[in-house]
Amino acid sequence: MNYVPKPNDIAGLIEADRAHVWHHLSQHKQYETVDPRIMIEGRGMRLWDAKGQEFLDAVSGGVWTVNVGYGRESIADAVREQLVKLNYFAGSAGSEPGARFAQKLIEKMPGLTRVYYSNSGSEANEKVFKMVRQMAARHHGGKKWKILFRERDYHGTTFGALAACGQPQRAAHYGPYPDGFIEVPHCLEYRNQYPDAADYGLAAANAIEDVILREGPDNIGLLCLEPVTAGGGVITPPKGYWDRVQEICKKYSILLHIDEVVCGMGRTGAWFGYQQYGIKPDFVTMAKGVASGYAAISCTVTTEAVFDMFKDDPSDPLSYFRDISTYGGCLAGPAAALENMRILEDEDLLGNTTRMGERMMANLHNLMERHRAIGDVRGAGLFCGAELVADRQTKEPMEEAKVAAVVAHCMKEGVIIGMTNRSLPGLNNTLCFSPALIATPDDIDQITGAVDRALTSVFG
Ligand code: PMP
Repeated sequence: MNYVPKPNDIAGLIEADRAHVWHHLSQHKQYETVDPRIMIEGRGMRLWDAKGQEFLDAVSGGVWTVNVGYGRESIADAVREQLVKLNYFAGSAGSEPGARFAQKLIEKMPGLTRVYYSNSGSEANEKVFKMVRQMAARHHGGKKWKILFRERDYHGTTFGALAACGQPQRAAHYGPYPDGFIEVPHCLEYRNQYPDAADYGLAAANAIEDVILREGPDNIGLLCLEPVTAGGGVITPPKGYWDRVQEICKKYSILLHIDEVVCGMGRTGAWFGYQQYGIKPDFVTMAKGVASGYAAISCTVTTEAVFDMFKDDPSDPLSYFRDISTYGGCLAGPAAALENMRILEDEDLLGNTTRMGERMMANLHNLMERHRAIGDVRGAGLFCGAELVADRQTKEPMEEAKVAAVVAHCMKEGVIIGMTNRSLPGLNNTLCFSPALIATPDDIDQITGAVDRALTSVFG
C-alpha cells in the first residue's frame, strides 16, 4: 500500500465530498453526523479509505464488479497503450481491440456470434429491448412486442430497464413506464409459492407459461431473466427450472435473454452463469466483470439469426439497428476486457472460483448450524447469500435494520459485505458475498469469521 493519509488532505477531501458529491444509493442526511467514506487505494482483495482503515472487500467493489481484484497493472498498461494509440472512434467503424475482444468472447459462447458494445449493464439490456421492439415492428406485424421479466430480478436503472424491474423499491416513484413489460413469478424455493406442487422447479417454470397464456403468446417477444438473481436475494434456480423454461420459450417462439451483468466473466465458476444450467440463450448481456471496473464496457451478444433480421432490406433506412452508444466507441473498454479475460484464463480464476465458492458455502452452512438467524444459504461459485429470518419456522424475514447492523458490524471489523437493501419491501434480508475471484482460503475464512462475530454481536 502506498497511501499514507495526511490529516489536512483527509479533512479537505471529506469536506469537498460532503459539499458537492451526491452518492449512489445513499440517504445523505446521515452525512450531517458521520463522515462520508472515501476509498483511496486497492490491492488484490484489499482496500484503504481516506482515514487509512484497511478493508477486506467481500463484494468486489460494492456491486460484484472487480472480478480480477484491485491494482492490476497489466490492465492499466493495456488501457494506456490503447489510449495512446487510439482512444476513441464511434459510429460505423470497428476497432482493433473491439474485434479482438469480440472474437475471444465468442469463442467462449458457442451458438452466439455477434457483440454490440455499450457501457453499462442497463444500456446493454436496453439494446435487447429495442431490438425486440424493432423485430416486432418489422418482422412480426406489430406482434411479439411484449417483454417478460421476473419478480425479484433487476436489469438496470434506465426507464426500459426499470420497466423490467422485479424489485418494487427500485422502481417506485419514477413511472409511468413504457407499456408491454410483464412480470412473471420468482423461483426462490425457500419461499415456495406452490406448496402443493410435487416439483417446485417445474411449478415455478409453469407459472411463466400461465402468464404467457394470459397475455397471448403471439404478443410475447422476449423472456428476460438473470441466471442467478443477484440483488433480489441471490436466488439460485431450482432443479428442472431452466429445462422447462427453455421448453416454454421454444413452444411459443419467445426469445430468451439472459442478463449476465453479475454472473458473467467467471462469477459462478463458469464463463457465464447460463452455462451452469445448460441454457441456450438468444441474447446475453454483460457488464461489470467484463473489464472488472478498469474501464466502462458492456456487451449485448446475440445469434446470427437475430443479427440477420437487421439487414434484410439495405434500401430501407429503417431496416438496420438505428442505435449508437457514444462510449461504446471508447477503446479503453475492449482493451481492458481483453487483458481481464487473459488474467481469468492464465490464473485459472474459474477453477479458483469453484473451489473457493465451495469453501464459502461450507462455511456458511456451518454458520447456519450455529446461528438461528440464518434461514437459508444459497450460492453459485463466489456468489453467495445468507437469508436472515426472525423465525425459522415461519420464515418471517429479519427486519432490515438488524440485517444492516450485521453488515455494519463487519464493516467496523474491516470486512465489507453486502445485503439486498432498497429493493424488496419486507424482504431486504439477505447477506451477500461476492469476493474477487482471486480469493484465498484465508480470505474466505476471514469473511465468514467476521460474519460469525457480527451475528453473535447482533443476535447473541
Ligand atoms: N443487470 C443486473 C443483473 C444488475 O445487477 C445490474 C446492476 N447492479 C444491472 C443489470 C445494471 O447495470 P449498470 O448499473 O451497469 O447499468
